Amino acid sequence: MNIAVIGTGYVGLVTGACFSELGVTVTCIDKDREKIGTLSEGRIPIYEPGLEELVQKNLKQKRLTFTTDFDEGIDRSLVVFIAVGTPSNEEGGADLRFVREVAEGIGRKLREYKVIVTKSTVPMGTGAMIREIIEKCRPDGAPFSVASNPEFLREGSAVEDFLRPNRIVIGAEDSQAAAILRDLYRPLYLIETPFVITDVVTAEMIKYASNAFLATKISFINEIARLCEALGADVHDVARGMGLDNRIGRKFLHPGPGFGGSCFPKDTSAVLSIARKAGHDMKVIRSTIEVNQEQAEVMLEKIEDAAGSLDGKVAAVLGISFKPNTDDIREAPSLRIIEGLRKRGARVRAYDPIAMDKAKEVLEGVAFCSDEYDAADGADVLVLVTEWNQFRALDLQRIKKQMKSPRIVDLRNVYEPADMARLGFVYRCVGRRFVEPA
Ligand code: NAD
Repeated sequence: MNIAVIGTGYVGLVTGACFSELGVTVTCIDKDREKIGTLSEGRIPIYEPGLEELVQKNLKQKRLTFTTDFDEGIDRSLVVFIAVGTPSNEEGGADLRFVREVAEGIGRKLREYKVIVTKSTVPMGTGAMIREIIEKCRPDGAPFSVASNPEFLREGSAVEDFLRPNRIVIGAEDSQAAAILRDLYRPLYLIETPFVITDVVTAEMIKYASNAFLATKISFINEIARLCEALGADVHDVARGMGLDNRIGRKFLHPGPGFGGSCFPKDTSAVLSIARKAGHDMKVIRSTIEVNQEQAEVMLEKIEDAAGSLDGKVAAVLGISFKPNTDDIREAPSLRIIEGLRKRGARVRAYDPIAMDKAKEVLEGVAFCSDEYDAADGADVLVLVTEWNQFRALDLQRIKKQMKSPRIVDLRNVYEPADMARLGFVYRCVGRRFVEPA
């Protein structure tokens, strides 16, 4: 089968590369010439483990091509995926500008039957909007179906998630489109991936409901962590004790600096906006967002608790990306924490294993360091913000020697409070009891 994927960001590129790996002939289309140039040479503009190898292999075997030319890709494809960005607009809803742009482009090129599928996260009703746009733009009434196939991959393990997903959701207008998409995903069907086949608006809803639920779990445990601190309980054991109940599950019960990234903040906000237009107030999701917005401030208070007034102090920040194994810093909690540190008069020395280039584009007045030990050099307090593996086993004696005063604020609960006290650190974490050093 020939397919086209429009938009070669985190989702579109992974989708294109993985389908080509499964034997499908894929044309990836993007309007960004520089990106397409880089990709055509087998280099990828983002950091995603395993992805570059897949791109290079399938480029070489000619199952994967990259172009800026709509004609080239769309004409020969039976299925066209839309994987462009859907950022937040000024009112907090989803900005569908790129989706509209692409739908018009597809409509103008439509000559024979195709399935037009949204992979982007789009508000309920977008499938119907795409139908309307294409019907208006198509030159000669060519037939088409609209479908929704939301993506659940996680950055940092996107290739594995795409090739071994928990489920595939297909929302289709008709049985022909559902059958074509099922056929496209046949290799995953063979490894017994569950399929949820439904209508378009329901598939669109599944994606938002899933992300809002996961975000709610994070805000929930962050609130529980605050209460643990107030009452002397240990959130680490609370989360384990809760998570071993299969009805609750262990994932997404890690307290920390709050959720960030390109999806949860914008998608929770979009649900509120969509619901508002439909006359509903989503109270749970509203609270999830509120708790998350407070979380950076709660973390900054924690840092002040460890270091005292931050005015004139040096703060080392380890980890800038919104989570490990990605270079994505969109809505990363680190950004608000760094901004808060600077507002309180601290000088920030920061290090991230992969996201430094992207961080340099948006962060001003920060000293970017060559590694974690360099960042700690002369620091009054060290803040662990993103739990990259290399920060999990720091040479703490070395860190202690580098720092002006040994104070660590561990926003990911990577270290044991008792061990840190034994090593002579003033140590703060999230929702756990800490011990002052002897
Ligand atoms: P991204 O910003 O990384 O990539 C979007 C790409 O679309 C860019 O390369 C851009 O140049 C291209 N584009 C925009 N308008 C275009 C046009 N008219 N023609 C051709 N190309 C165009 O975005 P992303 O992170 O890949 O997210 C894409 C969608 O997938 C969003 O709706 C997002 O919510 C959803 N999603 C993202 C993730 C994730 O982890 N990143 C996971 C699941 C779903």
